[in-house]
Amino acid sequence: MEATKTEEKPKINEIYTQIEEMEHEQLVICYDKPTGLKAIIAIHNTVLGPSLGGTRMWHYTNEADAIKDVLRLSRGMTFKASISGLNIGGGKAVLIGKPSLKSEAYLRRFGRFIESLGGRYTTAEDMNTHTADMEYIAMETRHVTGLPENKGGGGDPSPVTAYGTYLGIKAAAKRAYGNDSLEGKKILIQGAGQVGKHLAKHLSKENAVLMVTDIDSEKAAKVAAANKGKVVKADTIHEIPMDIYAPCAMGGQLNDTSIPLLSCDIVAGAANNQLEDEQKHGQMLLDHGILYAPDFLINAGGLMNVYQEYQGNYSKTLALEKAEKIYGTSLEVFNLASSRGISPHEAALHKAVKRIQDIGQLKMSW
Ligand code: NAD
Repeated sequence: MEATKTEEKPKINEIYTQIEEMEHEQLVICYDKPTGLKAIIAIHNTVLGPSLGGTRMWHYTNEADAIKDVLRLSRGMTFKASISGLNIGGGKAVLIGKPSLKSEAYLRRFGRFIESLGGRYTTAEDMNTHTADMEYIAMETRHVTGLPENKGGGGDPSPVTAYGTYLGIKAAAKRAYGNDSLEGKKILIQGAGQVGKHLAKHLSKENAVLMVTDIDSEKAAKVAAANKGKVVKADTIHEIPMDIYAPCAMGGQLNDTSIPLLSCDIVAGAANNQLEDEQKHGQMLLDHGILYAPDFLINAGGLMNVYQEYQGNYSKTLALEKAEKIYGTSLEVFNLASSRGISPHEAALHKAVKRIQDIGQLKMSW
C-alpha cells in the first residue's frame, strides 16, 4: 500500500474520540482499487428505524475532513428524521473525489457496500449525486431511494427540500417581522445548486429581492437571471447588508469569523450543518440578534420525499403535505426557544432528542 505523505490521516483513537462524542453506532470505510472508490458510510442512531440519508461526493482535501463531514451529516439526519416525525434513523455517506471519478462500475461497487449492511443504511442523493447515480446503485442494492419517477421512485428530492426551506424562511419572517410576506426582502442564496435554484423560484414568486452567489459563477449567473436576481461575489457575502441569509452550499458557514460580520435579521437555508459549533454558534447568533432557523428542521423536505419512496408507496402529494408541516414546527421551535431563553437550534435539538428517548423507551417492552 502506498503512503500519501501530504494527507492528514486521522488516527484510530481520534476516530473513536469523535464517535464517542457524537454517539455514532457505526462507521464503515470502503475502498475499491479498480474503480478508485473511497466511500465512508456513517450510521448515527437507529432507535427510530434503519438509517436513511444521502451520499455526498466532494473533493475533500484530506481524510480527516471527510470523516468529520460524514459524522456530522449523519448525526444531523438522526435529528432531522426525529423532528419530522419519521420512523427512520440517521445515516449518511460521502464519496471522496471529484464527480468525474463516477462510472457505472464505481457506483455499482458502492451499491454493493451498501447492500452488505443489510438495510441498516439506505442512500439517496446529496451534493454531486443525482437520480442517474441512484439507478446504478440500485443495480446492486435495494437500499436506495431517490430513483427517477419513471422507475417508480420519488425523483430528485431537491425540489421538496427547497419547498420546505422556503416555508421555514416564511416562518422565520413571521417570527422576526410579525408577518410572513417576503415581498421586498433582500435575500441572499449561497449555492445555486439543486436546492438553491428551486428555492430561488419560490422566493422570486413572492417578489423578494434576490442575490445569488456560487463558487461556480456560471451557475450563479443562470439562477440570478432566471429569477430577477443579481450575482454577488462568493468571498464578500458575509459583509453584504441583507434581511435574510440562506446558506445552500457547504456547512460550517456560521462561525467565529462570519457571525460578527453578518448584517441580517434571519439565517435560514438548506445547507446541512451550518453552525460550525452547534452550541457556541447557535448562541452567538442569538446574542447578535439574528434569528436562526435550524437547518435540520427546515431542510427536511427532501428526506420526507425519499421517506415516502422508502415506505414503498411514493406519492408526491403526501411528501409535500409532510413538508408543509415545517412552517408550523418552525414556529413551535421559535416559541420554545424564546420561552426557555435558548437558541432555536438548541430548542429543535431538544424536541428531536425527546422523541428519540420516548420512542426508544416504548420499544423496550412489547
Ligand atoms: P449541489 O451540489 O447541487 O449545490 C451546491 C452548490 O453550492 C454548488 O453549485 C456549488 O458550486 C456551490 N458551492 C459550494 N461551496 C460553495 C461556497 N463556499 N460558496 C458558494 N457556493 C458554493 O447541492 P444541493 O443538493 O443543492 O445541496 C446544497 C446543500 O443543501 C448541501 O449542504 C446539502 O447537504 C443540503 N441539502 C440538500 C438536500 C437535497 O435535497 N439536495 C436536502 C437537504 C439538505
